[in-house]
Amino acid sequence: MQGFWSDKRTIVTGGAGFLGSHVVRRLEKLGAKVFVPRKRDYDLTTLDACLRCLLEHPCDILIHAAAYYGGIGINMTEPAKLYYTNLTMGTNLMEAARLAGVGKFVAIGTACSYPGYLEGKLQEDDLWAGPCHESVVNYGLTKKMLAVQAKAYKRQYGLDGAHLILTNLYGPGDSYNPERSHVAAALVRKFVEAEQAKAPTVEVWGSGKPVREFLYVEDCADAIVLAAQSYNDVNKPLNIGTGVGTTIRELAETIGEAAGYRGKIVWNADKPDGAAMKVLDVSRMRQAFDGWTPPTSLRAGLEKTISWYRANKAQADAKW
Ligand code: GDP
Repeated sequence: MQGFWSDKRTIVTGGAGFLGSHVVRRLEKLGAKVFVPRKRDYDLTTLDACLRCLLEHPCDILIHAAAYYGGIGINMTEPAKLYYTNLTMGTNLMEAARLAGVGKFVAIGTACSYPGYLEGKLQEDDLWAGPCHESVVNYGLTKKMLAVQAKAYKRQYGLDGAHLILTNLYGPGDSYNPERSHVAAALVRKFVEAEQAKAPTVEVWGSGKPVREFLYVEDCADAIVLAAQSYNDVNKPLNIGTGVGTTIRELAETIGEAAGYRGKIVWNADKPDGAAMKVLDVSRMRQAFDGWTPPTSLRAGLEKTISWYRANKAQADAKW
């Protein structure tokens, strides 16, 4: 990998964020020259700023990891901002990429783009097999449009690319703000705080029955770098995940145990469950990456996340 990256000019949008910062760290270790556009300099929701960014910082590979996103809570409270920000950023950035002659556009998509009511593991060929789950439709559809745009831009302009469909992530640097966080970060915060306060109960949302897949963010960054280097087919989106399903109940119990919490879990049925199951089929990923699978087990990843969160609590809570 080292040889490949040493002469590559790379841009990572969202490179100061949760996932993007891990991608940047990995690329820099491999010798890539990485530029991270910051919002104060380039408002990527406008075509002008996207084009200015790419003309001022010409690049071979663009990894579009910037997103306005969050868990099931923010999808209910800020659907319009999710819609507008993600749609305009993606559309304008890809248009600017082809105008500026970028070599390859790697789009970071989401499992929320899948039909929300399918049974079993989600396969790339089923991306269009039904409507998104209503709880994530704004985020899911805007990211899905990147897959549509990539095909069109390859056909008409020859722009190379890859569309990566990410499962639920967790790890250091995530959003730990309860309004915005996804379930893993939300529960890490709740259980660590309950353990510190010796609280008798912890409230967890929903029924505990939904099944989700959890990918440690550093493993995800490795997969993105692998795909940016070697996966080139906009007609075949690529799932990135572990392929392992875990119920929210199991997740809560594992986090509680890893945090040393001894009290009880209380389920709040007034909060939404979201999709019943969201787990990716990762056969295409394994094949594309010569058998690679994410090396970090859920338990190990949660332990690392909890230690990081304890050591950086004030800073983590203040972010986003
Ligand atoms: P989703 O994967 O798009 O549904 O997003 P989330 O990660 O936000 O939620 C996953 C599941 O975890 C849903 O069934 C939530 O109801 C459940 N959950 C349980 N407790 C929490 C919590 O404190 N915060 C969040 N965000 N989800 C929770």
